[in-house]
Amino acid sequence: MWLVYAFLFGSLIGSFLNVVIYRLPKGLSVVRPRSSCPHCGHTLTPVELLPLLSWLLQRGRCRRCRGPISPRYPLVEALTAFLFALSAYLLGGTGGIAGVLLVWAFIALLIALAFIDIDTKTLPNSLNFAGVFLGLMAAWALGFPQGFSQALEGGLLAAGLLALLAGYGGLIYNRFKDSPREGPFGVHQVHLAAMGGAWGGMWGTAGGVYWGSLGLLLGFLNAALNARTARVLALPDGLTLGLAALAPLAALLLQASPLESLRGMLLSAGGLALAGMLYWWIRNPSDKVEADNTEESGYVSVMGYGDVVLAGFLGVWLGFAQFLVALLIAVLAGAVLGLLAQRFGRGGQQIPFGPYLAVGGVVAFFYGEALLRWYLAYLGLG
Ligand SMILES: [Zn+2]
Repeated sequence: MWLVYAFLFGSLIGSFLNVVIYRLPKGLSVVRPRSSCPHCGHTLTPVELLPLLSWLLQRGRCRRCRGPISPRYPLVEALTAFLFALSAYLLGGTGGIAGVLLVWAFIALLIALAFIDIDTKTLPNSLNFAGVFLGLMAAWALGFPQGFSQALEGGLLAAGLLALLAGYGGLIYNRFKDSPREGPFGVHQVHLAAMGGAWGGMWGTAGGVYWGSLGLLLGFLNAALNARTARVLALPDGLTLGLAALAPLAALLLQASPLESLRGMLLSAGGLALAGMLYWWIRNPSDKVEADNTEESGYVSVMGYGDVVLAGFLGVWLGFAQFLVALLIAVLAGAVLGLLAQRFGRGGQQIPFGPYLAVGGVVAFFYGEALLRWYLAYLGLG
């Protein structure tokens, strides 16, 4: 009976998510006005707003003008309903009522993010950061789904990993051309932080100081200097990322820890990436997607920073180990679907990375531990 309620509640939330997915990128309010038919403008009555049922009863058409209504709407409602019921079932009683509500919020945010990314190729900061802060608050107040330090570290490492994949990927793809400079906070400060974190991090904690935070210090000093001088001072990507990559090797020679060097690199890069995105979000809190996003610099980014914040969101909820499971699922799903699209001639329609990450995140949240254990046993390490 409880699962039926979860399903019904999920379909209602799914109906609301349809509104969010449609309106948020247009910069419209998600509460007012009431939904209307896109063809004739007729305001929908409560009977026409029943999740799933209305669409089925009306056979996918507007009651007044018979205009077609996209099957995407009942699909999002059914997906949300199914995942709400499934998560209530899988959680059993873990985390109590608060736990169930938090996991539903986690799922709802990911569904909205995935479909907005499919529609607009962007991930709204408001939803991404809602996920980050909700996860941190839940970890801090309830220790759910994990402890606070684990959540914070998971978020920073995950965001740092994607920021550096974007950094190194961009460097190689653009044949070592420097990325466009942006001040006071840009990717250059993230790469500088990676370098400092990698070289400081290899010494771990010594004398009561965590040396990996050297990267954070350098990155924030660079951003502060940019803000102060109203110029964009930055070391080129090739230099910072090159030196960052050398650090784990140097750690071997210096009898320091290569693994700690990598950890410092990811933590610092993640910290700067999330802080930078937070800065830009506060500067421009609108979720409206601007049409003219053309890059005139000739530099092609291999991954957007929306994906970096989404990684931070997932890392906060999953922890770093299970985030890696989510990332692996996302990459595999992307590769399989990419091949299928090529094979069956729909290669023209590009699917962004966000939806794959979202799918990977939900699967890893429930099955990550089991998958990880299975994989380690498979390697003979478990
Ligand atoms: Zn109509």
